[in-house]
Amino acid sequence: MEAEALLRRQCVEAINRDGVVDDRRLVALVLETYRDRAATIDKNAELIADLAAAKEDFGELQKLLETVLNHLPLGLSVFDTEQRLTLSNARFRQLFGLREDDAVVGASIPSLIAKIGGVERSEGRTASRETTLESGHIRRREWVMNDGRIIQSVVTVLPDGSNISIHADITEDRQAADRIAFLAHHDPLTGLPNRISFRERMDAALAARKPGEQIALIHLNLDRFKSVNDTLGVSVGDKILRKVANRLRACAGDDNALARLGSDEFAILQCGQQQPWNVTALADQIRRELSEPFFRGEKPIELSVSMGVAISPQDGVDTDVLLKHAGVALSHAKNTGGGRERFFTPEMEAELEARHALEADLRTALQDDEFELHYQPLYDMNEQRISGFEALLRWNHPTRGRVAPLEFIPLAEEVGLIVDIGRWVLERACLDAVTWPKDIKVAVNVSAIQFTHGDLQVDVSAALEVSKLSPHRLEIEITESVLMENKDEALPVLHALRERGIGIAMDDFGTGYSSLSYLSSFPFDKIKIDKSFVNEIVDNSEAFSIIRAIILLGDALGMRVTVEGVETAAQLELLAQEACDEIQGYHISPPRPAYDVPQLLSRPQPRMNARAV
Ligand code: C2E
Ligand code: MG
Ligand code: MG
Repeated sequence: MEAEALLRRQCVEAINRDGVVDDRRLVALVLETYRDRAATIDKNAELIADLAAAKEDFGELQKLLETVLNHLPLGLSVFDTEQRLTLSNARFRQLFGLREDDAVVGASIPSLIAKIGGVERSEGRTASRETTLESGHIRRREWVMNDGRIIQSVVTVLPDGSNISIHADITEDRQAADRIAFLAHHDPLTGLPNRISFRERMDAALAARKPGEQIALIHLNLDRFKSVNDTLGVSVGDKILRKVANRLRACAGDDNALARLGSDEFAILQCGQQQPWNVTALADQIRRELSEPFFRGEKPIELSVSMGVAISPQDGVDTDVLLKHAGVALSHAKNTGGGRERFFTPEMEAELEARHALEADLRTALQDDEFELHYQPLYDMNEQRISGFEALLRWNHPTRGRVAPLEFIPLAEEVGLIVDIGRWVLERACLDAVTWPKDIKVAVNVSAIQFTHGDLQVDVSAALEVSKLSPHRLEIEITESVLMENKDEALPVLHALRERGIGIAMDDFGTGYSSLSYLSSFPFDKIKIDKSFVNEIVDNSEAFSIIRAIILLGDALGMRVTVEGVETAAQLELLAQEACDEIQGYHISPPRPAYDVPQLLSRPQPRMNARAV
């Protein structure tokens, strides 16, 4: 029909003025129309092909979108302007514990929230943080699921109110971040707050202190903990530190702040209570608790603790000063034997400074050649003659004058200088002794530190080597503390020295608290009864009975017995009745410089009637 009408119109158009159809014109018109139609048909075919290709592309895109959505490790949800779900993926359902028929297109946000197995975190670091963008804004929400997982949603709200959200499980990240934050403020070994967080607590407590209120700070340090670590190993040391932390936790309770400041150092802050009474009670409790043995298998390990106490406001109102003063009091407690608490006094600071100055001088004393050995005779009671000399260290300081051994040797031990000094003493004593007659021995005092921090065997060998002194003429004097602190390390060294013919003497016998057990642990050649036992033997029969019993004990164990500190002829006479092998003391001679030894040996020796040789 359409073609007929078109032809009729073309015929009408082709009629010329005469009313006759111009056939040529008609043919031209028909041909023109035909050409246009062919072009349109071609165009249509092209469009159809394009459409098919676009359909195919769209299908592929849809497939790709589905693949992306379902493999995305993040949950995705899209809500329209009415806040109804238009798109979501499987991970979204999985994260929030939703079923497939819960998260259908058209579901509202409140209906979905009602179905998730968790609640939105309403406070904390991420609760509803918003960032404004050019096109809308981003909101972060966090959900705590019933099974403990933490889900974070990042919601991009578009200007029309619709939103696109991605959701992620951030449980592990959050745990790692929490752990890092914890570690920044806690000690990983004991879980206690560390120095940084303790300082923060102190800052806050001192700032909040009300007038009339006092705050006590206890700085604690375990005594000789280093030797526990050195002899039993770091892992045993760590276990003990954890136990110490637990005991301290129990003592400190919830009201007081407790922290581990360093290796074997702890601190407690006691706030708002009557001081110094309460802190004294707390320190007593801590001392009791920590003196209970720690067990490693069958073997109990005993510890003691030193404590320094500073109280605010009298000892300082700010953290640094209070910490410093508690530290000064702690050093004082340590320097005076440990195992107790000390309260800060301003004099302590001066004393500590003096000690630091002494330490500085001591560090240069060896190279400045300020040491000297004096020799005190050991008098053989049977042979009634000097059989040897004990080498006693003297420090002649250019401005201090002569510093007493008891003033600098404990310090030298504490700071480790005794190892180098002890090496010098050994060599000097052997070099001096080799110039004496061959039957005269030399006794050298050795500190516990030389067993743990030095190589005593090497030092002894070197001294004998350089001096060419026979090992039989050398005697090593050790005190109980050597065995008390480092039995496992010291015993093999003592055995090795003894095997080489070097004599081993137990010095200051009777001053420790478990002397007998140490006597049975090693076959000493000699025991030296401490001078404190001799003082009263003449006037006090009980004192005499005690010394007599110790002499008999040594004798029964087959050890030579030396009595130290014999100052009078009366004491000597009394001891001559006993099975005492050797005496030492001012009565024979005080310690004398090395150049006096020949004169001491050549002068007439005291004679005793009671003992016929
Ligand atoms: P020690 O080994 O028991 O030495 C004996 C101490 O008693 C010496 O004190 C000596 O002078 C003193 N003394 C001797 N006879 C009498 C007496 O009749 N009455 C009194 N009241 N005292 C007497 P000194 O020389 O002051 O030495 C003290 C301590 O220092 C020594 O005690 C020893 O433990 C230590 N010492 C000395 N030299 C060294 C050394 O080279 N190395 C080490 N590690 N310690 C040393
Ligand atoms: Mg001695
Ligand atoms: Mg002694």
